Amino acid sequence: MRRIALAWCFAAAFAAAVPALAQEAPKPAPEIASPAAPKSAVRSKRWMAAAANPLAAEAAAEMLRAGGSAVDAAAAAQFVLGLVEPQSSGLGGGAFLVHFNAASGELTTLDGRETAPAAATPTLFQDDRGEPLAFMDAVVGGRSVGVPGTPRLLEAAHRRYGKLAWGRLFGPALKLAEEGFEVSPRLAAQIAEDAPRLGRDAAARAYFLPGGTPLAAGSRITNRAYARTLAALRDGGADAFYAGPMAAEIVAAVRNAENPGVLSVDDLARYAIVERPPACAPYRAVEICGMGPPSSGGIAVAQILGMLANSDLAALGPKSPEAWRLIGDAQRLAFADRERYVADPAFVPQPTAGLVARDYLDRRARLLTGGRALEKAEAGEPKFSHAGRFAPDTAIELPGTSHLVVVDAAGDVVSMTTTIEAGFGSRLMVRGFLLNNELTDFSFRSHKDGAPVTNRVEPGKRPRSSMAPTIVMKDGRPVFAVGSPGGSQIIGYVAKTLIAHLDWGMDPAAAAALPNMLNRRGPFELEKGTEAETLAEPLKALGFEIKLDDMTSGVQAIAIGPDGLTGGADPRREGVAIGE
Ligand code: GLU
Repeated sequence: MRRIALAWCFAAAFAAAVPALAQEAPKPAPEIASPAAPKSAVRSKRWMAAAANPLAAEAAAEMLRAGGSAVDAAAAAQFVLGLVEPQSSGLGGGAFLVHFNAASGELTTLDGRETAPAAATPTLFQDDRGEPLAFMDAVVGGRSVGVPGTPRLLEAAHRRYGKLAWGRLFGPALKLAEEGFEVSPRLAAQIAEDAPRLGRDAAARAYFLPGGTPLAAGSRITNRAYARTLAALRDGGADAFYAGPMAAEIVAAVRNAENPGVLSVDDLARYAIVERPPACAPYRAVEICGMGPPSSGGIAVAQILGMLANSDLAALGPKSPEAWRLIGDAQRLAFADRERYVADPAFVPQPTAGLVARDYLDRRARLLTGGRALEKAEAGEPKFSHAGRFAPDTAIELPGTSHLVVVDAAGDVVSMTTTIEAGFGSRLMVRGFLLNNELTDFSFRSHKDGAPVTNRVEPGKRPRSSMAPTIVMKDGRPVFAVGSPGGSQIIGYVAKTLIAHLDWGMDPAAAAALPNMLNRRGPFELEKGTEAETLAEPLKALGFEIKLDDMTSGVQAIAIGPDGLTGGADPRREGVAIGE
């Protein structure tokens, strides 16, 4: 297993520097919240799949029943998600896939992140005076569209780990696209809310707002353009997407949009996924493994848990203000490092090993021993062989993404977070699918105080992500797989689910349902209308500023135990787990 190596010892340096708190991007757009009564956990013996929509989970189950691998199931689910949950992910987006291969014992990660076009420059999201554009002005249209990664990722994963024929993976999605499916309540609500923006692209308007009216929940629709796209991919592989008429049409849509982008057919032709070692850090008896840079998710989740490893969270329990003080301040420290360091490793040297090294996390954990909220949470100085002067990127992201987990009968595991960035991405629709707005995950500011911003736009660069598809390992075998959408809140959602399961003994469904609480270096965000509100006063008394908000996570998780599999889906969205 290739890992980023770790070593623990004590030391006490702590570096300050970065101006705190100021988050530059606007507030995340409101997501539709729904009540968080736990869905029951699902148990099975042989295999299981959990995805954000029942039709997608069923497509995965169909592959697994037929003897397919976890990757076969994930691909079939993704093709369906692009149809039934088009606001969150699809062929026009990107994804990170963490994979455990039971036969070889190898854990690896595949980076299918969108990439900036070769003609993109650091001023892509600035006006004539060099000022950052308003967020939504940057999102809608062609400017925000990065080279999609999902088709190439699924093909590459299938070549490595697939068992069923490639063509078979398209069966469920093709049938639904041609014969029709019911618009889910969540999709309908999001279309209604986004109608003014969706209406700006002719193809999106025709599909989502037929006759000018948003599609209603329960209405049955087909998507024949998407069916033709799927058939082209089935017959021609990912090349049918990245070259030829489909590529030309994607480029034309981006360049002719009201807010045109600079994508070219060469950018599409050049796109390649990257296999990377997982970023892992020990936590009690297990190891938390996830996606390294360009995602900040894996490192941040591993850091948060790594800093809490010497605190007895189990004894404190989920209702303890002291437990949440520790978790909240560990999150603040992890976010400070994320802002200071993490970006595409091909452009900015990354101290990944140093950030998850045990001695470093112990040093950071010692900051948490004061009993009250930290006065300030600054980036640390991890061990690193490079020097560099970069300014931090404090932007936060808009939520609109999906997570799926699969365990197959052979023991292979997939944990994949997949996205088109904001809900409905760039709102540009081509051949039945939406194009991403992932480039707005870059910093709009190119420099600050004379230093380049780590996560600024550069040609061919991948924007920093917060996605945190995770597999927890124990003695070299997977024991838990989890992830969530939610922009930079993903980091908190995943860390919470892991703590709830590993320390508080909750099954995946109960762990996902537990109220969300998160500190991203600003106020302590508590999930509105839940029991989290009872912690507002005690946390205030410990020195935190409090903000009540909707926190619409979309966790999917599977626990892998000696007696079988236990899965759960987040009650805040429409996901389910299916197993046999
Ligand atoms: N674009 C975000 C990222 O890569 C994900 C957005 C979301 O989760 O909704 O981190």
